[in-house]
Amino acid sequence: MADTYLGLVNTPLPGKLAKTLGLPRPAVLRRYTPGGPLVPGPVLILGSGPGADTLAEALLGWDQDVRRHLRPGEKLGAVVVALDAVSRPEDLGAPLLELGQAVRALLPGGRVVSLARPAEEAGDPATAAARQGVDGAVRSVAKELRAGATANGIVLRDGAAADSPGALGALRFLLSGRSAYVDGQFLRVSAVPAPEEPADAGAPLAGRTAVVTGAARGIGAKIAEVLHRDGAKVVVVDVPAAGEQLAAVANRVGGTALQADITAADAAARILAHVKERHGTLDIFVHNAGITRDKLLANMDPARWNAVIAVNISSQLRINDELLASPVFSPEGRIISLASTSGIAGNRGQSNYAASKAAVIGMVRATAASFDGSSRTINAVAPGFIETDMTAKMPVLTREAARRLSSLQQGGQPVDVAETIAFLASGPAGGINGQVIRVCGQNLVGA
Ligand code: NAD
Repeated sequence: MADTYLGLVNTPLPGKLAKTLGLPRPAVLRRYTPGGPLVPGPVLILGSGPGADTLAEALLGWDQDVRRHLRPGEKLGAVVVALDAVSRPEDLGAPLLELGQAVRALLPGGRVVSLARPAEEAGDPATAAARQGVDGAVRSVAKELRAGATANGIVLRDGAAADSPGALGALRFLLSGRSAYVDGQFLRVSAVPAPEEPADAGAPLAGRTAVVTGAARGIGAKIAEVLHRDGAKVVVVDVPAAGEQLAAVANRVGGTALQADITAADAAARILAHVKERHGTLDIFVHNAGITRDKLLANMDPARWNAVIAVNISSQLRINDELLASPVFSPEGRIISLASTSGIAGNRGQSNYAASKAAVIGMVRATAASFDGSSRTINAVAPGFIETDMTAKMPVLTREAARRLSSLQQGGQPVDVAETIAFLASGPAGGINGQVIRVCGQNLVGA
């Protein structure tokens, strides 16, 4: 469903009117285009932590224009603020006040990225306070930025260095157009061995095989396309009733289609047999299939409740059990599960759906803990309002409100979710495990 208001407000007259009336003015977001620049202008590095020098060097290595001081009149593509050495709340003032001046020079679609360490790993209360303070400041900056600019952070876990492959991979993702609808979020990265460099930087998933469930349309179809664009071989799965659409997606991505209801007892066995026969190994599994059956809890019936739990979480648990026990699933395999901001904040009329999506988060965290010491990862991606058939079913006014109630004042596109999933499937995301990455434009629904 097209966001007509977004189109209108980005034309001269209606745009001026919206400004005069104080109406929301969502911007057209800066999204990834292969071969395009990483950021739309120079990158300013602020902060005095050791991370500042390290990241400046890395950015120079990526052929970016790096600045260590704001130049009068110059516009910026991004500001990176290194706060990895803060040890007292008073340490936050200087770099963040400087950031306040720098964001005035940010170009449309610009980026703010902070670098910090986890509060829970601090040895003393003052350091923990300073580190947690970064969280509040960056989330606030995200709410203040306009013109499609975003603010996110990288958190270096377990002593990971600023130039660890995971930190640099996260920095690249957050600076790029791939993270267009990720706003007010923190990527927590651990140190892991450097991944093998892909032979072709434009095809970071070359040689990998991915399965995407619920891929006949919407977000799932787009995930299949983006994984294919990034070089993966893709197997798309959906119910037999969606067979025709599924075949069309498979053709588009040069992959294969498997008609299967993921709630069936033999779904995992059939998927694994299909992959084994055609590709030998399975590297990436995306649990995308999901349904809604909305009703206020007071009006909820067992059929609605049970259907949502069966598709959205029970099937994932059963498939994961078989996946993890199977030699077909790679020792470096990646699992990515679709959660939802409803599963984080709750949503009126969605107690069944929110229970299922919160359950996904619980499952992801517990499974991630069991991966400790292995090279596998599992993460959840929690979309907010994304423009698909699922959200097109919403009543008009609720839909319009949901679109505008985010810092970016618009719904996301399926490609925004797909880009985050492709990043989590890629080599540099090997240090990200057990996380919930929201792709929600900093949805204001709470929590
Ligand atoms: P959609 O309804 O457009 O597509 C879902 C797909 O899953 C359909 O092709 C459907 O046939 C398939 N499916 C349903 N039950 C299945 C089953 N038992 N076996 C196999 N396939 C099955 O949904 P969407 O908007 O693209 O959402 C994709 C995922 O993202 C879902 O998990 C959804 O909960 C989640 N999500 C979506 C939004 C949003 O705003 N659209 C927000 C948060 C989370």
